[in-house]
This record gives sequence, C-alpha cells and structure tokens, in this order.
Amino acid sequence: MDFPPFCPYCQSRDVVPRATGLKIFGAIGIAVGAAGAFKASLKALQVLQSGSIALPGIALTGIASAVLTAMSASALGCEIGTKAGAQLDRMLLGNRFCRSCKRSFIYL
Ligand SMILES: [Zn+2]
Repeated sequence: MDFPPFCPYCQSRDVVPRATGLKIFGAIGIAVGAAGAFKASLKALQVLQSGSIALPGIALTGIASAVLTAMSASALGCEIGTKAGAQLDRMLLGNRFCRSCKRSFIYL
C-alpha cells in the first residue's frame, strides 16, 4: 500500500505523492549558500586589493579560491536546503496531494 485509500478532505481516491518542498527549499539553500560565500569572497578580495598590484599572482589565487568557495558553499547550501525541505515537507505540508480538491495532507 503506497497510496492512502482516500483524501481526508473530499474522500477522493485521486491522490498522488508530492515533493514540492524539496525544490523550493533546495533553491533557498543555494541562494543562502551562495550569498554567504559571496560575502566572504568580497571580504577576501578587499584584503587582497592592497597587495594585488605588488603580488598579482597571489591576488589571482585568492580570486580563484573565492570562486571555488562560492561554488562549494552553494552545493552545501543546496544539500542542507533539500534535506530541511524534505523534513519540513513531511512535517508541515504533507506528502500526498489530492488532485480532486487540490489539497495536500500527511500520509505515513
Ligand atoms: Zn481531496
């Protein structure tokens, strides 16, 4: 029995599994991760600016590592966001969707 027998709101049997929260919170996670990394990168670049004329090689390395940090932070943010989204989805929004009345509910 993968599907609940019926919708608790309208008793319809036209019920499908849903995972909307995963996508939403994954996107939020990416945004939060990237924003945090971007802030850190700006600080790193500000520090590097003073020495960039004298030491361009080090400045370039700093920019490259800032980009890499931003990329990995985005990936991490997405992973955390997706996991949190899946949890929240099950806890609050429900994991089943009724196509008759367009309402979602929790089915364990
Ligand atoms: Zn329904």
